[in-house]
Amino acid sequence: MLHYHTIPVTPFAQNCSLVWCAQSLQAAVIDPGGDLEHILGEVRARQLKLQAIWLTHAHIDHAGGAGELSERLTLPIIGPHEGDQFWIDGLPQQSAMFGFPQAKIFTPTRWLHDLDTVTIGRETLNVRHCPGHTPGHVVFHAPQIQRCFVGDVLFAGSIGRTDFPQGNHAQLIASITERLWPMGDETVFIPGHGPESSFGRERRSNPYVGGT
Ligand SMILES: [Zn+2]
Ligand SMILES: [Zn+2]
Repeated sequence: MLHYHTIPVTPFAQNCSLVWCAQSLQAAVIDPGGDLEHILGEVRARQLKLQAIWLTHAHIDHAGGAGELSERLTLPIIGPHEGDQFWIDGLPQQSAMFGFPQAKIFTPTRWLHDLDTVTIGRETLNVRHCPGHTPGHVVFHAPQIQRCFVGDVLFAGSIGRTDFPQGNHAQLIASITERLWPMGDETVFIPGHGPESSFGRERRSNPYVGGT
């Protein structure tokens, strides 16, 4: 059984999620953007064995703590897709621009590609490449619990910004309609910011992608 717990971190209230295999208590942390002591406190409270860092994309609020956490606990960094290399290279400038603690640059242990899988304990999640918000953005789909961790691709009632360098609105819409919607209307998604929703609810009522 796959479990998860979402922890808002950084001044941007970014939804960092711990995901773990209930049998083994092996865990991965998705998007540790900052507030590492808070995240590690939740890991200890649940007696989880943290094995890996998974990244949806390399914006500071999602990836800002990854380098330090990887160094401290000797954890592999898995993801995002290599299209986000320039955002990783720019983490120091992103830190300065948004008033974050200076982020460490890192080299992912493994880049992710569309239709890859990632495993934690006995649980496997499917990776989809969903460019548009950033060129290297990926999402983590857990069909066994009908959940998807979508980063800044889609929000309850909104979609990701595309006004950054290499952002692409048409590509983002295609990522949502061609790669997220087929996961099913009942699938609940955990966005990078704000409350959870389901793909079905967004298909009905989201002003940006409703009716698609
Ligand atoms: Zn972002
Ligand atoms: Zn974000």
